Amino acid sequence: MDQRGNMKHARFADKYELSDNFSWVQSIPFILIHLSLIGIFWTGFTTEAVVICVTLYAVRVFALTGGYHRYFSHRSYKTSRFFQFILALLGSTALQRSAVWWAAKHREHHRFSDMPNDAHSPRQYGFLDSHMGWVYREARWHADLDGVSDLTKYPELMWLHKYHYVPGLVVAFLCWWFAGWSGLLAGFMLSTVLVYHVTFFVNSLAHVVGRQRYLTGDDSRNCWWIALLTFGEGWHNNHHFYSASTRQGFRWYELDISYLVLKTLSFFGIVWDLQAPPAHVLKNERSPSRLVIEKTANHLASTFSVDQMVEQVKQAWAQSNHMDELRQRARQAMSDAEAYLAEVELPYLPTLDDIKAKAQKMFARVPALDAAVERAHAKLVEMVSMRLLEEAQPQAV
Ligand SMILES: [Zn+2]
Ligand SMILES: [Zn+2]
Repeated sequence: MDQRGNMKHARFADKYELSDNFSWVQSIPFILIHLSLIGIFWTGFTTEAVVICVTLYAVRVFALTGGYHRYFSHRSYKTSRFFQFILALLGSTALQRSAVWWAAKHREHHRFSDMPNDAHSPRQYGFLDSHMGWVYREARWHADLDGVSDLTKYPELMWLHKYHYVPGLVVAFLCWWFAGWSGLLAGFMLSTVLVYHVTFFVNSLAHVVGRQRYLTGDDSRNCWWIALLTFGEGWHNNHHFYSASTRQGFRWYELDISYLVLKTLSFFGIVWDLQAPPAHVLKNERSPSRLVIEKTANHLASTFSVDQMVEQVKQAWAQSNHMDELRQRARQAMSDAEAYLAEVELPYLPTLDDIKAKAQKMFARVPALDAAVERAHAKLVEMVSMRLLEEAQPQAV
């Protein structure tokens, strides 16, 4: 890992005073579940096993997307305490820890999306780590339960939090009991592995592949095939832009199966108060907040090498007396040096057009992108100027 990566990991570890090293011991059950699939060569796929696999995939993907995500993490609709428990119970059979833990980590993801404190950002930690490695790094799987006090107040949810692996083990045993080894391996284990990876796709791939409709300052994207596999979660850029909505497919052609299931449940009064995106969100006509512009500008600026630009400026100035002049003025007063730097043109800095071309590849092409491009340009000028001033500064004796 490069030095930058190490620093970020260290920062995360410092925050909780926990290790950010990968724990092989803790990942053993996850590895064994994957290895158990080799057994399917011997057991084959019985009809019962296929039915179990398809059913458990569908039920658990819904429980995670409609329950863990849209209900527990975002409270985007309401339901009874009884059905809330059912959602948490079904979700826990996917062996992805409890609804309380999942929601705590997910709320953190939205707060720090693609910043160093986002435990599973591909931008920060690379693809594999954002997909599954982070779950076995204690500093990053550690959940701060203060952020989910609306959930921890329910003793039944805290029971599931404490014994999160029990419902999954019970279902695994039932699959073996009713459908034999094929039922356990091709039914339970295979569907568990599939549910793992499609859920993880939302953290990894949905921040890498697809298109952006909204400027969110993070890398969230909309991708139809991830949406299909995850029952609607692939409309991830929509979701990052307006996470209060129960529906994540904002256009009629953006299929969102979990939403359709929730809508059906609402006809029976099982869930209610489903939230929809407001008209201005659908039209995408409002400017993003200053925070989003700033976040976008920071990320854009970070894709250019300040070290390289400073070196290029110094090389270009080698034939002139600019650097000497800067040093001389810095000896008089730093404000003189700053004024001089503002007068001379800094060569080799990316132009607004250069930055815009890059921004259009990285982010949604919305009018507000221009503001982020201008901010990124100003930041680069500021950073290069700061470095030149530091070098021109008289050394303390
Ligand atoms: Zn979310
Ligand atoms: Zn995300």
